[in-house]
Amino acid sequence: MKIYKILIIVLSMFVSINALPIFAYAETDYKTGEEKFDEYIASLPSEYANLILSDIELVKTMKQDSYWSNSEPNKITRNTYDSLPVPGYPNGSYYTHNGGPCSCHDDCDYNIGISNSRCYIENTNSLGNCKVYSGTGSMQCKGFADHIYYLYNDVNVSARYSVNVSSYTTIPHSESGINLVEEFFSSLPVGSNVRVKMRSTGGRHSIIISNKSSTGVTVYDANSDGETCIVKNRFLSWEDLAEKYSGIVSAWRGL
Ligand SMILES: [Zn+2]
Ligand SMILES: [Zn+2]
Repeated sequence: MKIYKILIIVLSMFVSINALPIFAYAETDYKTGEEKFDEYIASLPSEYANLILSDIELVKTMKQDSYWSNSEPNKITRNTYDSLPVPGYPNGSYYTHNGGPCSCHDDCDYNIGISNSRCYIENTNSLGNCKVYSGTGSMQCKGFADHIYYLYNDVNVSARYSVNVSSYTTIPHSESGINLVEEFFSSLPVGSNVRVKMRSTGGRHSIIISNKSSTGVTVYDANSDGETCIVKNRFLSWEDLAEKYSGIVSAWRGL
């Protein structure tokens, strides 16, 4: 009986010591989003790592703790939108605060602590017309794609749904490039979110696959004009895709 009591006392001491946050912290393998991002980048071939590192919007998303979390529940049923485009953003609409075209793109930036839903115009210290999607802290094309991904799939883009695009980071401007985009886009389900490199400018763009066929995919995006945050939903053939996009930077699978 005495030994039993001593055991209880010793055991309770052990439990209370381990319940102290500092011990709990030391014993877990907790890493911040930034640390996990750095580890991921270090694991990639340098060319692919540089492709990601040169995309500040993507880096911003990938450094969030939530991006690396596996705590989101497994999706069981689609309960928000079951088809694309979503009702609020048909072809020809605008992904903007007031529903009209933007005229702020020369001056606007991410919000600086003022609003988590609109862009920020630094020289006038005011809010602009571009919507910011707070789920990933992105605006314009990436804000739209991340927002639509969430509405359709009920989860935010995260490492868990990330697609390995290492074979598609460079799309040659040739027949082999056409075959490569066909292989890549055919492998993804509707609702997938793809970050591409534009052949014309070298800049980055985000798109959602809203439909698929044997000859191409329907691309649903915002701000393809780079100026107004206009929403478009149009079919692009394998040839069109290889013409427009010179590489795949990142992608997240539709569910
Ligand atoms: Zn805009
Ligand atoms: Zn703006």
